[in-house]
Amino acid sequence: MNCLFCKIIAGEIPSTKVYEDDRVLAFLDISPAAPVHVLVIPKEHITSAADITAENSSVIAHIFEVIAKIAKEKGIDGDGFRVVSNAGEHGGQTVHHLHFHILGGEKLSLRIC
Ligand code: AMP
Ligand code: ZN
Repeated sequence: MNCLFCKIIAGEIPSTKVYEDDRVLAFLDISPAAPVHVLVIPKEHITSAADITAENSSVIAHIFEVIAKIAKEKGIDGDGFRVVSNAGEHGGQTVHHLHFHILGGEKLSLRIC
């Protein structure tokens, strides 16, 4: 499958890893939109939030546990942060492998991501 994030998971494309386990990978966004900008992805290829089902949704709860852990590690849990998942053309999704942006480290504009 010609998927950029599947290639990052496979190690075919380099990334700066922040967290990894058997189900989830988190890495720094290559073009940060905020002082802290981490992407969290399931290792299973799910195209977007529109493709979450009863069969694959358990990883989403796990992703949010990982998001809370990363926010603490990055020191943005106290001041707050934003979690965004763009889906499809109207959502502005450019990489078609489900991902959650963690954005923080400053007061965010209401229009960011
Ligand atoms: P979206 O526009 O929501 O699909 O987000 C895709 C994100 O992936 C963007 O914020 C990009 O900067 C980021 N991105 C694209 N290629 C890479 C890469 N090789 N490593 C890390 N982040 C990437
Ligand atoms: Zn993929």
